[in-house]
Amino acid sequence: MKKIIILISLIISTLFSTEIKETTWPKGETFLTFLEKYSIPQKLYFELEKEDKELCSEITADNYYYLKENEDGTLDQVLIPVSEEIQLHIFKTVDNTYKFETLPISYQEYTETIAMPITSSVSNQLQEATGSAALAAHLKYIFKGSANFRRMQKNDFIAIEYSQKSLLGRPFGQPDIKAAMVEISGKKYYRFKNEKDDKYYDEKGIGFTKTYFFKVPLTYSRISSQFTKKRWHPVLKRYRAHLGTDFAAPRGRKIYAAGDGKIEFIGRKGGYGNTIIIRHSNGYKTLYAHQNKFRGGLRRGTRIKRGQHIGYVGSTGLSSGPHLHLGLYKNGRAVNPLRVIKKPDVIGLKGKRKKTFIANAKVTIKKFQEVINDENRENATRLDRLVSTSKLTPRKI
Ligand SMILES: [Zn+2]
Repeated sequence: MKKIIILISLIISTLFSTEIKETTWPKGETFLTFLEKYSIPQKLYFELEKEDKELCSEITADNYYYLKENEDGTLDQVLIPVSEEIQLHIFKTVDNTYKFETLPISYQEYTETIAMPITSSVSNQLQEATGSAALAAHLKYIFKGSANFRRMQKNDFIAIEYSQKSLLGRPFGQPDIKAAMVEISGKKYYRFKNEKDDKYYDEKGIGFTKTYFFKVPLTYSRISSQFTKKRWHPVLKRYRAHLGTDFAAPRGRKIYAAGDGKIEFIGRKGGYGNTIIIRHSNGYKTLYAHQNKFRGGLRRGTRIKRGQHIGYVGSTGLSSGPHLHLGLYKNGRAVNPLRVIKKPDVIGLKGKRKKTFIANAKVTIKKFQEVINDENRENATRLDRLVSTSKLTPRKI
């Protein structure tokens, strides 16, 4: 146990040293080409378990990763985040071989309220004030269909309470808006997130998300691997993560789209093999991996209806047998597909839950109102930043 804890703290402390290179993952680079670059035997990858191979396919171009080279140019260690929770760690051991493991990411998370008058553009001002490019996009998304940001003029106002993960001082992962107010020509619009169902409602508890149903995309024999975000495996004595659900089914079995959307990616994607990614209208994306082949005529940008045939089950990429790996992402975060598929997206708060929600919304409105007094109409105001650090799950060996 001691050994592992030392290892984790070593990784964290060495990250702050100057020898660590922080750089972005190049476009077109795969896990295998990365190993090749450092002359690391490819068996490191081929001997991984299926779930870990799939995690290697989750590496996204342009994401930051952390690298330490030895003086002779060989790789000492590398940390590659593949989700907001999990990172891949490859390191050189004393006997000069390389090892692979998955580790939880130790990040900070802060919640803050920011209020500002509009002087130029919402996107530029928010990015300048918070360092997050994604916050404005998320803000516009939750007000879609009500507040018209194009109508915003000088001296209109926004106030947002949001939380953001940060890694080594940089925003990391998607910002999470808890509450927001947009004032356009004196009219105020509100959105509050209900943590229970992860949806947004206005100050009266009225919801907006269109009712949305995902469908299981195939007739399957069994579920061969469940979604796990970050779990300490007591038998294997390591962290495990599997960012999707694996449905075992015979080769050639038809795969259908889980929901309406547009094809964002169609082609080979590392260890995922033949993969289709569909973007849906509500911040969701679905990913269908290891396909034997795609249905003809599909390309990037093709509009897809729920239940439409898109491909066939196979075991392309790295897969131990024919199955469909289904990934589901909400605003860039991997979520458990089965949880969303089983529960339809229902609108509305009722009874006591609604009362509590409205009462909480009132408290936030009051907090927002306090910053929108005349003195604060000039500059961006930042309130109460609360910071917490994620804890590594204790390991028992
Ligand atoms: Zn899988």
